[in-house]
Amino acid sequence: MVYNFNAGPALLPPAVLAEAQAELLDYHGTGMSILEMSHRSAEYEAVNTEAQTRLLALLGLDDAYQVLFLQGGASLQFAMVPMNFLPPNAVADYILTGAWAEKAVAEAGVVGEVRIAASTRAGGYRTIPSAAEINVAPHAAYVHLTSNETIHGVQWHQWPDVGDRPLIADMSSDILSRPLEAERFSMIYAGAQKNLGPAGVTVVIARRDFLNSAPDTIPAILRYATHAKAQSLYHTPPSFGVYLLLLTLRWIDAEGGVAALGERNTQKAATLYAAIDQSAGFYLGHAAVPDRSLMNVTFRLAQEADERAFLQEAEAAGFVGLAGHRSVGGIRASIYNAMTIEGATALADFMTNFAQRRG
Ligand code: PMP
Repeated sequence: MVYNFNAGPALLPPAVLAEAQAELLDYHGTGMSILEMSHRSAEYEAVNTEAQTRLLALLGLDDAYQVLFLQGGASLQFAMVPMNFLPPNAVADYILTGAWAEKAVAEAGVVGEVRIAASTRAGGYRTIPSAAEINVAPHAAYVHLTSNETIHGVQWHQWPDVGDRPLIADMSSDILSRPLEAERFSMIYAGAQKNLGPAGVTVVIARRDFLNSAPDTIPAILRYATHAKAQSLYHTPPSFGVYLLLLTLRWIDAEGGVAALGERNTQKAATLYAAIDQSAGFYLGHAAVPDRSLMNVTFRLAQEADERAFLQEAEAAGFVGLAGHRSVGGIRASIYNAMTIEGATALADFMTNFAQRRG
C-alpha cells in the first residue's frame, strides 16, 4: 500500500474501486460488464440519470441547473466556453491566478476578445486577488475564474462580486471538496480525475437558460445546447467513467456530503501546513497564508539538494506523487477528498522527521 498524493489522475476511494471490481464482470445480473453495454440501455440510462441528480443535490442546486457529462477534459472547456458565450464584438473577463487560468485565457483569446479583470502573476501566483484588485467590466459577456490552481496551490475562499455578469468557474481540482454557494455561478466545469472519478469525463453544471444561449453557428458537438437537449447522450458518452463517477458521488453522500468532506479536508490541509510553518524555514510554502489551497499543498525546501533527497526518501517510505508540476518544481501534496486524515498526518510526520534529520 502507498499513500498516493498524485495531482490527477489521483487516488479514488478504495470502496469505490472495490465495488467497481465486484460488479465488473456481471453488472446487476445482466451477464455482461457495464463496459460492454449500450449507452442506450436502461441500465446505463439509470446511471446517467442518477449521477446527474446526485451531483445537483450535492451542489445544492435545483432544476434551474443542468448537469452534462462531456469528454475532452477541462481543456476542451477552455475553448467551448468562449465559443458558446463570447460573441463577436463582446469581451470576456478572466481572473488570472495561475497556470490553469493562463491556459483558459489563451484559448479564449483565440476565439474573441479577452480582458484581464485581475492578475496575481507579477507576484508569482501566490495570492488570490482581493475585492479591491478585481475590476469587472460592466459589459463583460462573462467572468471566468479558476477556483483552485492545482499547480500553484492557491484557492479562492471568498467569491468575487461580479454584479449581474455571469460567473463561470473551472473547479477541476476542488469541486465537491467543501460547501459552495453554487447558485452564484452560471456555469461550473471540472475534469473528473481529481475529486469525482477517473479521467475521461468532464462535468459541466450550468443554468439551463445560460446553456441554451449560445449561437448555432458553431459545430453541434461543441455546442452545450446539443448535449443539454440529449441529456449527455448526443453521442457515445464515456460510460465507464460516468459509472465510476456515480459510485464516487454515492461515496461522498455516504461520507456525510460536502460539509463533512470540507471539515476533513480543512483538517488534512492544516496538518500539512503546520508541518511547513513549524519547520523554522526548512520548508517554504508557496501560497500566501490566507489563499492556501486545501487541495494542493505546494512548497519548496530551502536547499535544492534536500528536495531530491526528500522525494526519494518519501517514495521509499510509501509517499508517492509528491514532485511538483514540471513547470514550477518543488513539492506538491495533492490531498483530494479520497485522501484520509491518516495519510495527511503520516506525510506531515515524515516531513517533520526529515526536517529534524537534515535541518
Ligand atoms: N484546470 C485545472 C484547474 C486543472 O487542474 C487541470 C488539470 N490538472 C485542467 C484544467 C486541465 O484538465 P484536463 O487535463 O482534464 O484537460
